[in-house]
Formats: sequence, C-alpha cells, structure tokens
Amino acid sequence: MPELPEVETIKNELLPHVVGHRITGVTLDWEGIVRQPSVSEFRSRLIGQEITGITRRGKYLIFGLSSGTLLIIHLRMTGSLLISQDSSQPPKYTRAIINLDKDTSIFFRDPRKFGKMWLVENTDAIVGKLGPEPLEPGFTTQVLAQRLSKRKAPIKAILLDQHFVAGIGNMYADEALFAAKIHPERPGNSLSPREIERLHRAIQQLLWAAIENKGASVENYFRPDGTLGTAHFQFQVAHRLGGKSCPVCGTPIERKPIRNRGSYFCPQCQPEN
Ligand SMILES: [Zn+2]
Repeated sequence: MPELPEVETIKNELLPHVVGHRITGVTLDWEGIVRQPSVSEFRSRLIGQEITGITRRGKYLIFGLSSGTLLIIHLRMTGSLLISQDSSQPPKYTRAIINLDKDTSIFFRDPRKFGKMWLVENTDAIVGKLGPEPLEPGFTTQVLAQRLSKRKAPIKAILLDQHFVAGIGNMYADEALFAAKIHPERPGNSLSPREIERLHRAIQQLLWAAIENKGASVENYFRPDGTLGTAHFQFQVAHRLGGKSCPVCGTPIERKPIRNRGSYFCPQCQPEN
C-alpha cells in the first residue's frame, strides 16, 4: 500500500507533467472511484480546469485547480497514477483516465478498486482530522511524547492511526519499531523517553530515506513513469516472509497480527518488556 514516501514520490514526479496543463477529458471505467460529487458533476466540473499544483497530506494527494476547487485522490491499497503521452493504450486495471492538453494523460490504475477521488471546495471534511505530518518541523520528540502519553493501545496500532500521525502505514511502522528496538505490542504510554526519542528519529530517517529511494515497490506501487521504487531494498523486517532472520542478531523474524494487521518484528531485538 502506498504510504507517505510513495505518495510524496508520486506527487513530486507528477508535478512537472501536469502543472499548467488543462483537463480536456475524464473517462471513468469504474464509477465507484468517485466519492463526491456525482459522476456527471465530477466530470463536467473537472473538464476545462487547469491544474495549478499538487500537495500531499498524509496519504492523500490534493490537486489544485484554476477554479479554486480541489481534486483529492487516495490510492488506498493498490492504486497508482501513471503518466503517459498515449491515451489509446491504458494499462490493465485502469479505472479512470484524466486527459490533459498536449497529449498527456493520467491513468488511475487500481487492481483492487479501493482508490477514491473527491472534488471539493475545501479539504477539511476529508483531511481535516489527520494527525501531524511526521516530516514537518512541528512533529518534535516532545509532540510525539505528549501524544503517546494518553494512549494505551499497542504502539504498532497507534502508529497506523492516521489521526495520531499522518502517512505511516504497515511497512514503515514495522521498520520504525525495529529500528527503535520497540516491541510492536508495547502500550503507547509505556515507552520511556529514550525509546520515544529513538522512535521519533527512526520515523523521520526511514521516511526521508524512502523518499530518496522513490518509495517501496512491495506490491502494486509504481512511480508515475511506470518504474519501481527501491526503498524496500533497505527494509530490515517488513514483509520478511518464509523464515527470514533478523539482520542484526540472526533470530527468525516473527509475524503476528496486531489489531488485524500483520506485523513483522525481531523478538530478540524488540523485547516485550
Ligand atoms: Zn534481532
């Protein structure tokens, strides 16, 4: 699933291809991809608009349009946005095509059809309740400590809660907890100040490194030009199936569902107490 580094990469790499371009057509192969407004209104209000910019909030992409309206896209489990100069050959699983002038098209490819689009006047209803951005200056160790102090849930589940912190998903949560040597089931409010400091540093370092490596192509993630990211080559525990062992101590990596999400960790390096 695309997480913060993947969505950030998509934003960065789409920008030069779409900003200043006008939307000339919208084709929906799967109408359920449009959440708001109606499909016909969605299409008619997009066509003719110029794309003025793209920002990211958590795992959401927000396209600015010349009318002041905003197009929000969430890729969910398997979505990707591919840019092409040839709209006659959409890739398999393309659910929507946004045609731009100068023969440019954005293909919304989404095998599992969980992706969503909204056209809104302001973003509050969709992204207003998200937690802080982990790479912004406001996300300090103190902020993390203060937010954790009220939470008794397993730290893994807390990190996945988009209201707690925005943009972190299963892969980077597992990697951050491994790097910080924290067992994923530890209650949030049980972490020591040193552990919180390690976790904060791990989150920021991992996310920056993954952006530098253009995201992790573990499942269906593609960069807009169709190529793969390489961030997963750095993974220490995430997605280590089939009895792989800990790169630090050699203990077999464990996989355990925590609040229904498969979690990978080293029982030796990340002790329970
Ligand atoms: Zn280990």
